[in-house]
Amino acid sequence: MGLLVLGKPLAWEDSKQHAAHVKEHGVAQLINIWKRLKDRDGDQLLWGDEIEYMILSFDDENKNAKLSLCQADLLPKLESLTTDLCSKDPAKAGTIPTFHPEYGRYMIESTPGSPYTGSLPDLLSVEQDMRFRRVLARQHMKPNQLPMTITSFPRLGVPGVFTEPYFDPSDAVSSHSLFLPEEITNPHARFPTLTANIRRRRGSKVAINLPIFHDTNTPKPFIDPTIPWDRNVYKEDSEAKNGAALPDHIYLDAMGFGMGCCCLQITFQANSLEEARSVYDALIPVGPIMLALTAAAPAYRGYLSDVDCRWNVIAGSVDDRTEEERGLKPLKNNQYVIPKSRYDSVDSYLSSDPPCRPDYNDNVFLYDQPVYERLIEAGLDEPLAKHFAHLYIRDPLVIFSDRIDQDDENSTDHFESIQSTNWQTLRFKPPPAGSKIGWRVEFRSMEVQITDFENAAFSVFIVLLSRAILSFGLNFYIPISKVDENMQRAQKRNAVKEQRFWFRKHVYPLGNSVAYMHSTPTSSSPPESPVSDGFGQSAIVDGGQEAPTKAFSSPDQSRCPSPLSSVSGTGRLEDEYEEMTINEVINGNGEDFPGLVGLVNAYLNSLDVEFEQKRRMRKYMDFVKQRANGTLKTTATWIREFVRSHPTYKFDSVVSQEINYDLCKALDELERGVRRANDLLPADYQGTNYEGCP
Ligand code: ADP
Ligand code: MG
Ligand code: MG
Ligand code: MG
Ligand code: MG
Ligand code: MG
Repeated sequence: MGLLVLGKPLAWEDSKQHAAHVKEHGVAQLINIWKRLKDRDGDQLLWGDEIEYMILSFDDENKNAKLSLCQADLLPKLESLTTDLCSKDPAKAGTIPTFHPEYGRYMIESTPGSPYTGSLPDLLSVEQDMRFRRVLARQHMKPNQLPMTITSFPRLGVPGVFTEPYFDPSDAVSSHSLFLPEEITNPHARFPTLTANIRRRRGSKVAINLPIFHDTNTPKPFIDPTIPWDRNVYKEDSEAKNGAALPDHIYLDAMGFGMGCCCLQITFQANSLEEARSVYDALIPVGPIMLALTAAAPAYRGYLSDVDCRWNVIAGSVDDRTEEERGLKPLKNNQYVIPKSRYDSVDSYLSSDPPCRPDYNDNVFLYDQPVYERLIEAGLDEPLAKHFAHLYIRDPLVIFSDRIDQDDENSTDHFESIQSTNWQTLRFKPPPAGSKIGWRVEFRSMEVQITDFENAAFSVFIVLLSRAILSFGLNFYIPISKVDENMQRAQKRNAVKEQRFWFRKHVYPLGNSVAYMHSTPTSSSPPESPVSDGFGQSAIVDGGQEAPTKAFSSPDQSRCPSPLSSVSGTGRLEDEYEEMTINEVINGNGEDFPGLVGLVNAYLNSLDVEFEQKRRMRKYMDFVKQRANGTLKTTATWIREFVRSHPTYKFDSVVSQEINYDLCKALDELERGVRRANDLLPADYQGTNYEGCP
């Protein structure tokens, strides 16, 4: 999670003194990157995933599945293993994965040894690559330990023993949590300092309240008996009883509850800065859709919640806004009332092209005015300058004493210090100093899945969708406030089946880029879109037949009599989008809109694909399709049903030690293919084989 540098991190009071300096030089560094690399062009698609794991430790005697605080032992082992593998067979070094530290001392992250290309053989190697990482990690653990891709650990922060070894939460000097011990956090200075500085800057502990899932025997109102209401160790201990902990909610009070969740992220390199902006924009409305579809986090601190996703938990867990910034007190020491945490959804589209109507950026949008002016003066255009100036409404949270003065030509640390602590659904990543890497976009909303079949399917789906977006020039714009509404809907229990999501009705380009540039407001009538009407049905292939796809690459002007209004933005905004089910967004609405899987299939059909490749790719697309149409459940629904059908469950929302143990065992068996779950995974899912690997 972001950069790790050495040195002594400053506590908030000292850090504050240097905030202006870090911002000043961060902007200088950004300007240097931009000047040097704004015209960089011709980079190929390279991309990679990040998968986060929890290491679980099973105590079979007491039927307890615990979080194993083994990161510091495990990572060096994995590092020497991967170094060995590389030196044994240097030709294969690029296929040897990398393991990284994460916030939780029970967590690790893995990435591929080198980024993948967009070629079909590469796309089809992703699952194997992911499984290889899991095998490597698993082999370097004790027999009772397992790396598991669980998004939220159901019993993180319960009274009693949930870590191996056990630590008492009263030692939590960084977070002052009632529930999580200091040892939950990676001891590298960055993490405890981040944790403490968020609390100090905010002026209180973070406070997250997730609605409890009211089961038939859950008391009403639900007042959590497991909160140590009267503890008196830290001055913040009384916050819980003084209103921070709400009735009928699961109360969480520390960064570890959010950053201790696991997720699945995808980063891809764009051809150029401009291409990166287009893909970034198009994926903004896709963020909440994929959050709903990958929902995997229904339980927290020993209870079933009424949400299925981690997102708001992480947003709340690093919310360093002061009372003034949260609008609870008049502004005096701070500059802005800020609507969102520094971990939240994207607030603005980046493009300056006509399809991106100014009206789409309809969120309250704050940005640092002096930073904005400097960026404009340096030559950035308005949307890009605003994007970066928006990041600068936040303070740097971790400053290292020995890294304050930097060479702005060659370092990007001060820029990264702001960039890497603005955690949004998409991250726009400028090229790092002194590397060969180009402009990149990171897609960050997805929850991690239990199996690498699922993780590969969703990753490949997003990468192919990004290709479809670029090659067909798709337009997914809707007002960004609607994307935020979708973010909240996506997290509700059973959102895939029960919620509707704002999505754009007509996504095809109506003319080429020349037409965009010369378009002038011509008509206020709702757009007709003969192109989309024309190929929507024919190009979408579901059962294996070929389809005509020419309309994508060269839209036929003669079939677009009055197309420009919807492209350049003169039609009524409200006519451009509507509420759809996830099934409609993914699988199409049977009318103009072919759905995201339909678009990806159309893209695949435009390629020269061998039969076997097509068959394997279709398995991934069918899987995404089936999650969306409800044939397959989300991980969150599967876990919730497992808990509720456990013989010892009392219908009181409690995920007991024994239920959690059986659940974690079951999830491991699912991954290995030992236990079947044809309502979660395709019937022919093959588990990972852990016999006889390196
Ligand atoms: P962060 O934690 O900052 O989001 P990581 O370094 O953990 O980023 O992961 C970045 C991902 O980007 C990895 O999967 C990596 O393989 C991939 N990647 C590396 N180089 C490139 C590149 N040039 N273009 C696109 N992706 C890349
Ligand atoms: Mg990570
Ligand atoms: Mg990473
Ligand atoms: Mg990282
Ligand atoms: Mg990342
Ligand atoms: Mg553009």
